[in-house]
Amino acid sequence: MTALDGGSIEMMIVMSEGATPHDVEYVLQKLAEAGGRGHVSTGDVVTVIGVMGDREVIAGLPLEAYPGVDKVLPILRPYKLVSREFRRTDTVIDVRSTKLGGTHFGLIAGPCSVESREQLMTAARMVKAAGATMLRGGAYKPRTSPYSFQGLGVEALQILAEAREETGLPIVTELMDIRQLDDVVRYADVVQIGARNMQNFYLLSAVGQVEKPVLLKRGLSATVDELLMAAEYIVKEGNTQVILCERGIRTFETATRNTLDVAAIPIIKQRSHLPVVVDPSHATGKVDLIEPLSLAAVAAGADGLLIEAHPAPETALCDGAQSQSPREFSHTAARIKDLVVWAGKTIG
Ligand code: PEP
Ligand code: MN
Repeated sequence: MTALDGGSIEMMIVMSEGATPHDVEYVLQKLAEAGGRGHVSTGDVVTVIGVMGDREVIAGLPLEAYPGVDKVLPILRPYKLVSREFRRTDTVIDVRSTKLGGTHFGLIAGPCSVESREQLMTAARMVKAAGATMLRGGAYKPRTSPYSFQGLGVEALQILAEAREETGLPIVTELMDIRQLDDVVRYADVVQIGARNMQNFYLLSAVGQVEKPVLLKRGLSATVDELLMAAEYIVKEGNTQVILCERGIRTFETATRNTLDVAAIPIIKQRSHLPVVVDPSHATGKVDLIEPLSLAAVAAGADGLLIEAHPAPETALCDGAQSQSPREFSHTAARIKDLVVWAGKTIG
């Protein structure tokens, strides 16, 4: 991983298919001589070099005449490394024995929060049996009221690790504050950044420096481009393993907790190479909407789902009304499987 401290990518050099490592080295050397720098991204087919430096000086170089250079593209969007232009191929997240992105569909499920060892172990077994590929569970909870259950902290992280031990499912859990970074990174396989922290730029930069994938949730009132710029903060630090999550946005509609922005799925995929998952639980707040919106998400091209599921939703300390029971979750998991195949993907 290479960090891009301080620099901003001004243009991209797309190398031709037959370009050699020597050609790439030559370009990098010329950029360095002009006081610039190149960030090399080697794809399956072509290599792309993101160029940092003084735009005027770099523009004076005969870049397109260098051996192995196909074309030079100026960057007009406010994000660069996460853009489709920068990387044509889909980013695939590889976590333990499972993948998410490209042709790999991730099914992440589990309770809103870890409430006890028994509750979480039961939840882990149930989601595993239904075909989930990762287990979610909050240890630190962002609650609207300070009097609501705030999570079990490190104890919850240890319980999650135990569930991973037994089921083999990688664990996804939220990091709320930089003070919890070491603990969360020690136990989690995927570090979740919640909607309320989507623009906590110090936190984003901090997780950009860890070697664990990050699941970044869209802010309650953030645009798609704001989400992509938040992801750019992470990738810019060197961590390219970012999963974006559409979890509903605030609109005037009150029939649901938030409004699931289905259009955001294909839009994100047009603008970025990062995988996108959909959280129909937080998007709607209603358990009976989870299945139809899960199906809609798969059909619209999502790379995965993040579903709240609880062994006994009526007793949940957090988000019970939007959590599926074991029976409901296995029903939804079975129904999305056919659609995942239709979409040309496999689960996990
Ligand atoms: C969660 O996934 O537990 C959560 C709190 O979601 P969000 O940040 O999307 O509200
Ligand atoms: Mn929740």
